[in-house]
Amino acid sequence: MEKEKYQNLKDSYKPGIPYSEKLNQDEKKLDEYLNRIKKEADRLYHPNDPYGIIEWKDDEDIHPQLIDFCFKLPKGADLHAHDNTMIPLDKFVEIIIEYAMICLDGENYGTLYTVFSADLPENAIKISEALEQGFFSREELMDMMVISDDQEENGYWKRLEDLFSATGDFYNDISIMEKIWEEGFRSCYEKGINLVEVRDWGVEDDLLNDIRDRTIREAYYRIRRQHPDFLVRLIGCAGKDSGSSIDSACETLRSIIRVSKHIKDEFDPDNIEDFIIGLDLCNEEDNSKPLSDYADFLMSDEVKNSGLKLYLHCGESLRRDNDSVVDAYIMDSYRVGHAVNLYRFPELMKKYAERNTAIEVCLMSNYRLGYVRDLRIHPALQYMISGIPISLCSDDGLFMTRAPMVDDFYSAILCWDLSLGDIKAMCRNSIKYSGLTDKEIDRLMRSWENRWDDFVAEQLKDL
Ligand SMILES: [Zn+2]
Repeated sequence: MEKEKYQNLKDSYKPGIPYSEKLNQDEKKLDEYLNRIKKEADRLYHPNDPYGIIEWKDDEDIHPQLIDFCFKLPKGADLHAHDNTMIPLDKFVEIIIEYAMICLDGENYGTLYTVFSADLPENAIKISEALEQGFFSREELMDMMVISDDQEENGYWKRLEDLFSATGDFYNDISIMEKIWEEGFRSCYEKGINLVEVRDWGVEDDLLNDIRDRTIREAYYRIRRQHPDFLVRLIGCAGKDSGSSIDSACETLRSIIRVSKHIKDEFDPDNIEDFIIGLDLCNEEDNSKPLSDYADFLMSDEVKNSGLKLYLHCGESLRRDNDSVVDAYIMDSYRVGHAVNLYRFPELMKKYAERNTAIEVCLMSNYRLGYVRDLRIHPALQYMISGIPISLCSDDGLFMTRAPMVDDFYSAILCWDLSLGDIKAMCRNSIKYSGLTDKEIDRLMRSWENRWDDFVAEQLKDL
């Protein structure tokens, strides 16, 4: 067979992403550049090493032009970020440093506390003092706060939960809390994110939910005053772990439904929109009750008539008996978080594609928590090829990696060999399948398209 014919035949077997975007002339030029830097970045890895931006401490493994491309890329929305963890670690440390304590001997070595902690051990000292006295450097401190490979002993989830409890007390001080939110939202806008849909951990208390959500809203308004094309929405969450009762989770979600009726996005008084847009259940799935235990409530008229959609975590598990991706489909979840094991249900994959149920894919989180140890074989690429919309999200970015979302895009582009058309489609999906109203989606899509065109022009100028 002649060479060209053979190549054409071969290419016909290579799967593409059906919703990949068509590129204009300028974008085609940028795509060629992207291809070149992807190849260069690819060569920085030994073929058998786990792949992606895993060892972010080792700058030699990170391609400077590709990381710059990922930082500046207009990403659309981060549709799955828990509480305030979209803030990068360096900014977080900057804010908390005066209030954070650490144990440097005994069995609690390396454990973080806040000055407000009820469990503060006697040997804990202020982090600022420990830094001054040279117990560790700022770099080493940041290493302690990101989940890493050498913490397998008690499980990655235990480590994540410890980090959440170590930092949880900061929220007892409303001014620190607001500052963390504000810096988190600012960093999102600076790296090309126009919308953050936050999984907001609720409690069984309307007043506390109200205070927290108003604080988040105030921090969001501060960024929107500077950047009118920035939006924040909340998805209220309750716990489903084996230690929490089903009644308690339902009561928390009921409280969120009540609070959603009176806390609105009133930034533009002529266009008052919903601020709380949905409901979800969180926690480590392998240590939680199955979603089906909540079916009565989640499928009730009370929830259906609440005006809030479901955005359920599901399929974040490698267990053979985990079928929560089926539950989420039956419950008509508008989008789903993770769906790592959806590949085990080929017929259901078709249904997800038919219904356009978008999947919030969190690469760095899936890697750090041990679900996918080599991102080249992450199933989300298969989901895209099957026509299921996906968008990249940060999950608990603060504890996963130094640059949430930037590193997620770097890994996806490199590990799945994405073209500029694939990336553009993924970013557009994040707005298209957001929880905004149609009117807001139109407005935000225009802002994003402008940012995208500016990005392409700026990248070409630097070539
Ligand atoms: Zn999550």
